[in-house]
Amino acid sequence: MARRFDLRSDTVTRPTAAMREAMRATEVDDDAYGDDAAVGSLERRVAALLGHDAGLWLPTGTMANQLAVALHCPRGSTVACSPGAHVRIHEDASAAALSGVQLMSIGDRTGFDADELDALLDEESCGWPPLRLVWLENTLGEAGGAIWPLHDPRRAAHGLQAIADRAHGRGKPLHLDGARLWNAHVATGIEMHVFGALADTVSVSLSKGLGAPAGSVLCGSDDRIATARRLKHAFGGAMRQAPAMLAAAGHYALDHHIARLRDDHRRARALADAIADLPHWQVTPPQTNLVLARVQPPLTRAEPLCAALREAGVACYPNIAREVRLAVHLGLDDADIAEVATIIRATLGDDPTRFTS
Ligand SMILES: *Cc1c(COP(=O)(O)O)cnc(C)c1O
Repeated sequence: MARRFDLRSDTVTRPTAAMREAMRATEVDDDAYGDDAAVGSLERRVAALLGHDAGLWLPTGTMANQLAVALHCPRGSTVACSPGAHVRIHEDASAAALSGVQLMSIGDRTGFDADELDALLDEESCGWPPLRLVWLENTLGEAGGAIWPLHDPRRAAHGLQAIADRAHGRGKPLHLDGARLWNAHVATGIEMHVFGALADTVSVSLSKGLGAPAGSVLCGSDDRIATARRLKHAFGGAMRQAPAMLAAAGHYALDHHIARLRDDHRRARALADAIADLPHWQVTPPQTNLVLARVQPPLTRAEPLCAALREAGVACYPNIAREVRLAVHLGLDDADIAEVATIIRATLGDDPTRFTS
């Protein structure tokens, strides 16, 4: 098989030699007792970046999201989110399974707007279950890392600020799933704390574009994070001494891997440009680091294309059944992207009928 390029996700990055050295050199203590210095300083650092009182290091973004659900929502209540939200489609229905909470989707893959939220909230007075949390995601993963804008000049009610104002005006807290908020920050130049100020709790990932082996941080008020710390134990997330080394990687990532996300964004645009004219698909111009290509008739499924690409050395998966996703990350340089484009062009060729099965 040709040299393997892994574009399945921006989580596939390996720690760089310098990141590994930072992990090796760090002191190690017990995170379950709250003793570890590197974890504590990372939690305070990310909280400060997001403009929140406190942070909590967690092994995964999924756990951060599930703690947010559990923090805000009693059993039998609901959360408003967009249909493509990670918490709705990629967390194995765990809001229902772990916390007894139902997710109500509004809007589309580009998010929802304040008027759609209002309409849903109006139904509460007609006996619908109580809505306890409004869920934002930025960037929008299922929409190929599209940025949910703070202010939307074309549709004012769709801006995050308008939604946050409306939700708070109606007494509803918000959670911002910011697994890829770093990408939105770098692409827009808007500071992290401006996004952070929108929501009552915010989670960010250190293991996607930033390239740490694992780790997310959930931020919020001192009270909420104290409760979340107990829930972390309850959900089995207190990993003793391992978080120390992962927090050292997180510190390294914050020092060295934020500004470089603009390289990923530039390479994603270059990759999209290089494959946009193939007859099999419609390529969405990427706003950040994820390239989506939606198959066109007679093709109806992305998986046969992905299977051929994997065989040829470009690992990728469908985003949704009709869409190929190519994730650009710090493990791919300009030469790699050029070679990926060459492999894709050679593999898919100009006869789409081979992929109709
Ligand atoms: C990846 C992702 C998560 C979950 O992160 P894991 O660390 O893989 O559990 C949550 N939300 C969004 C938007 C993501 O992209």
